[in-house]
Amino acid sequence: MKYLILNHKMNLEYKNIKKYIVDLTNIDINGNKLVVCPSDIYLTNFIDNGFIVGSQNSSSNKDGAYTGEVSALQLKSLGVKYSLVGHSERKKNFNENDQDINKKIRLLLLNKIKPILCVGETMIEKSTNTTKEVISQQLKESLSKINSKDISNIIIAYEPVWAVGSGKTPSSNEIEEIILYIKDLIYKNFKVKIRVLYGGSVNNSNIERINRIKGLDGYLLGSISLDLNKLQELITKM
Ligand code: PEP
Repeated sequence: MKYLILNHKMNLEYKNIKKYIVDLTNIDINGNKLVVCPSDIYLTNFIDNGFIVGSQNSSSNKDGAYTGEVSALQLKSLGVKYSLVGHSERKKNFNENDQDINKKIRLLLLNKIKPILCVGETMIEKSTNTTKEVISQQLKESLSKINSKDISNIIIAYEPVWAVGSGKTPSSNEIEEIILYIKDLIYKNFKVKIRVLYGGSVNNSNIERINRIKGLDGYLLGSISLDLNKLQELITKM
């Protein structure tokens, strides 16, 4: 069983959601665990049709005068079970930093929503051989003041920033090295075994190769999650 987290990003119009849900219902997920992360406005459409859902974001504030924000408590009240945190698109476009991410994770955990924490290096960081340092720093700050029991409810997604939406992926050895590095680091600091996913341009040309990587617990899937024929093919190849 592997996790398949579908990140729709800011895609799909209301008129397309009904058909998407019908088509998704007809997919054979082959015993894997599917979590759909649509835009917030469609969360209940998926929940009402029996899907496990995650939000793409949540507020770093508890409640109150924060126009446009959605809180962890509000997500919980809908039945949301997971939430992406620290996606590189949010860091790049909305200046999110590791302190914001830490606040979000703590609020999500308080509301029994499992955070899917995205970590990963930029191309400059990769080319200067600082990937492990960068990830270690991201984990240290994002997971600050969180106890071991709560850590076991967090999923980490290794998403190299340069691989997201680019069609480029690291080599299998590079992915395996970082997946094991993250697992070891968490175990060393919290004595907890954590699930680690890979995300970044997973598609039907690379899934067979990536799926052979040891220690991988699943995938964060962006653009392929919008094409359900391709998604079905991907699952068949896993
Ligand atoms: C993502 O948005 O997390 C992602 C992995 O996107 P893509 O699969 O399109 O690279």
